[in-house]
Amino acid sequence: ISQPVTQRSQQTAQSSCQSLDASLEEEVKAFLINEDELHTYDDLTKVSPVTPSTVLKCLQARYSAKVFYTHAGCTLVALNPFQPIPHLYSLDVMKEYHCAPQPQEFKPHIFIVAEEAYRNVQGQVEPTNQSLVVSGESGAGKTWTSRCLMKYYATIAAPSSSQKCQDTVERIERRVLDSNPIMEAFGNASTLRNNNSSRFGKYIQLQLDRSQLLVGASVQTYLLEKTRVAFQAANERNFHIFYQASKWLTCRTLIHVLIYLTLFSKAVSLVNPLTVIYFFWPVATVSVQSTLLKGTILAGLLNLGNVIFCPSDDESQPCKLKEQSRGFLQNTADLLGVPSEELEACLRLRSLRAGKQSVVLKPCSQAECSVRRDCLAKLIYAHVFDWLVACINKSMCADTSRWCNFIGLLDVYGFECFTSNNLEQLCINYANEKLQQHFVAHYLKAQQDYVSEGLAWSFIQYQDNQSCLDLIEGSPAGVFSLLNEECRLNRPSDAKQFRMRLEKELSSNACVSWDKFSRQPDFTVLHYAGKVSYQIEGMMEKNKDPVPPELVHLLQQSQDSLLQSFFTEHSTEDSSGRGPSKVVTVVSKFKNSLESLMKILHSTTPHYTRCIKPNPDCRPLTFKKEEVINQLEACGIVETINISAAGFPIRLVCNVAQRPFVVPPIGLDVDKDTLLREVTRILNAVLRRHSLDPCGDAGGRTRSSMVHCGRTKVFMTHSMV
Ligand code: ATP
Ligand code: MG
Repeated sequence: ISQPVTQRSQQTAQSSCQSLDASLEEEVKAFLINEDELHTYDDLTKVSPVTPSTVLKCLQARYSAKVFYTHAGCTLVALNPFQPIPHLYSLDVMKEYHCAPQPQEFKPHIFIVAEEAYRNVQGQVEPTNQSLVVSGESGAGKTWTSRCLMKYYATIAAPSSSQKCQDTVERIERRVLDSNPIMEAFGNASTLRNNNSSRFGKYIQLQLDRSQLLVGASVQTYLLEKTRVAFQAANERNFHIFYQASKWLTCRTLIHVLIYLTLFSKAVSLVNPLTVIYFFWPVATVSVQSTLLKGTILAGLLNLGNVIFCPSDDESQPCKLKEQSRGFLQNTADLLGVPSEELEACLRLRSLRAGKQSVVLKPCSQAECSVRRDCLAKLIYAHVFDWLVACINKSMCADTSRWCNFIGLLDVYGFECFTSNNLEQLCINYANEKLQQHFVAHYLKAQQDYVSEGLAWSFIQYQDNQSCLDLIEGSPAGVFSLLNEECRLNRPSDAKQFRMRLEKELSSNACVSWDKFSRQPDFTVLHYAGKVSYQIEGMMEKNKDPVPPELVHLLQQSQDSLLQSFFTEHSTEDSSGRGPSKVVTVVSKFKNSLESLMKILHSTTPHYTRCIKPNPDCRPLTFKKEEVINQLEACGIVETINISAAGFPIRLVCNVAQRPFVVPPIGLDVDKDTLLREVTRILNAVLRRHSLDPCGDAGGRTRSSMVHCGRTKVFMTHSMV
């Protein structure tokens, strides 16, 4: 059924780009409809023939005509205009889509998807939770789209003033919207690809009550890129909050050289401090608020970044602080509320357990001291971020008795392929593989259902990414399992050895390849969206993400009540580096959180939006064909269109017990064939009344029919809803 991955690898994105112009001309000649009308195609299923190049041509024509949304059957394609489009998202437009009896007859828009999900919540038979999955590469517009969706629901599902309790201090919809700039301040950063790049994934559930009104929300975050606190690639920046905070905080420590802050002079937009105060008012104690507003923790982290060590001549002696760093160390200690001597000792000395009781202190090398310093910064920042998300949840989440359904919005980092890729990219690309599999399972694998239900159906090939997922998450032989095993052994990591192990264990999987001549040990994964080579050096350490126990002990004693509270629950046991480690690895944690997400997604009705970045430089209204076709191929747009055009995305199970009202005259003991005949008879009567073709039934498919009766299910096209 599925196209072999190796076959797909032959038609790499690059080769399609080269042959693009020639084939494009050929195919466009075959267009039945005038090229001048291409931009009028609201749905790519109407393009004929459906090939990457004809689809591309159509999208390009629409982009030139400043039309940014196009249906692709069951999904929506959103092209990023890279400039604000007046009135596209105005209140009036929202109302138009919301109030229309048939919004899908309007021009394609993200509001159609939003409205469809909103109407679906009530369900045909019973309420069904919905998920809006927004995917695309970095800078494609996922976060922008999620914000639009949130604004839409905050507008159309907001309780009217008369419905609100008099004593409600503020409106929940305002609170939900305000969570965006706060989370973005702490979790987004300027990167080479996007100057507001989300460095974490999020799934927001908008909670609706029985009357479909928005009564609350909750957010779950995934894999914050905390290394960014201490290190940023050339021309990238730290999290926005550091630049924003330094403008409004009244710390005595606003210093001029901040190593953790590159490109400090770049203009930044500010998160309004009043929003922050107002947001945290009901959920944080006064002292916590004042900590946040004084920004002592953030300023402490910035000072910590300026603590530099000199190399030590004698290995038995700890390396010394650079003289200029002493002031920064003192500032850090003051701001974090810890004694400066202890902070210094923690950074320069490692404690090793000797026997059961005694502990010896071992001096750290200059490099080790820097690792410990950065580890402290990452540890604190990750806790600040988690605390912030917890506060946001406390502030927005409605009591379970008040809501009954939700609409989930998923905005996760897109597929990543850099010159050097490591564990972070492997996790991110794994998440994208999982989402692609969910998409494939929902829309493309439906074909299997058609056949088993007896509908005459010629298979449309698609790429199944199961073997790539097996490669990554398979057990016992999968990259994650092997990585965890290596970490459990707790021996000094050897990248070359680990690469040999991977090669031996994973040799039978066609999705991995090995470059014998690469300078650094690595492995290359053939993802659905392209090939990515991952460096093995450092991977094991990143997976363990060790936290020296001395650092935790230090923070437990902090005078800053907020900082101290982060570490009260933290276990410091078994951190001597000896014995089996109980620490949960990064990949295990990530895999678990992703599994829970997938469970939620599977329990909802999904709606997919594919955001496309039309050029790599984020230039307004610029359409680069090569750039776009790569993204279209990566998300399997042609297969999606073909299956949507020919398929029946709506499936109703004929189960007398569940839906007795479908076939009222027949009792529960009726056999399936009789039931099916009865269903067909009723459906045909309905179709006749609406002057539509009768049902195509199992085995004899009537092409034009929009309804088909299978053995146990009734299939319908979207237009039947
Ligand atoms: P990342 O994965 O890096 O977080 P992303 O897919 O979330 O990227 P966004 O931050 O949503 O990308 O979009 C990048 C930029 O593109 C936005 O800051 C905005 O300037 C612009 N943009 C995106 N969508 C639109 C739109 N519909 N209209 C106008 N501008 C847009
Ligand atoms: Mg984003």
